[in-house]
Amino acid sequence: MSEKTIFKKIIDGEIPADVIYEDDQCLVFRDINAQAPTHVLVIPKKEIATIDDLADEDAKLMGHLWIVVRDVAKQLGLTDGYRVIVNCKEDGGQEVPHIHLHILGGKRIGKMVSG
Ligand code: AMP
Repeated sequence: MSEKTIFKKIIDGEIPADVIYEDDQCLVFRDINAQAPTHVLVIPKKEIATIDDLADEDAKLMGHLWIVVRDVAKQLGLTDGYRVIVNCKEDGGQEVPHIHLHILGGKRIGKMVSG
C-alpha cells in the first residue's frame, strides 16, 4: 500500500493544520508556505491524486469545491478578487499528489506564474 500523502494525514487528524472550513466532502486550511497575504488550500476528503485521475463521477464533488471556493473567499474578505490555481503533476509544479485548489489573495497578483 502506498504511503499516505501529507494532505491525507491532515484529513485524518494525524498532523495539525490551520483549518478554516470543513464539511463532509472537503477541508480548507492555510498553506504552510503562503505565496500571498491570504493563501489557502481547498482539498476533497476523497483521495484523488491529480486532475488526470478524476473520474466522471467526481464532477459533482469538484463542482462543490468551486462553491466552497466562493464561500471561503467571501469568509476571508477577498472582495477585490483572488486567484485559484490547480497544479497538475510534474510539469504543472504539483508537489502533493492529492488534488487541491490554491486560493491566493490579499494583494494584486501578477498576470503570469513564472518558474
Ligand atoms: P502543489 O505544489 O500545488 O502540490 O501545492 C502544495 C502546497 O501544499 C504548497 O503550497 C505547500 O506549501 C503546501 N503544504 C505542504 N505541506 C503542508 C502542510 N503540512 N500544511 C499546509 N500546507 C502545506
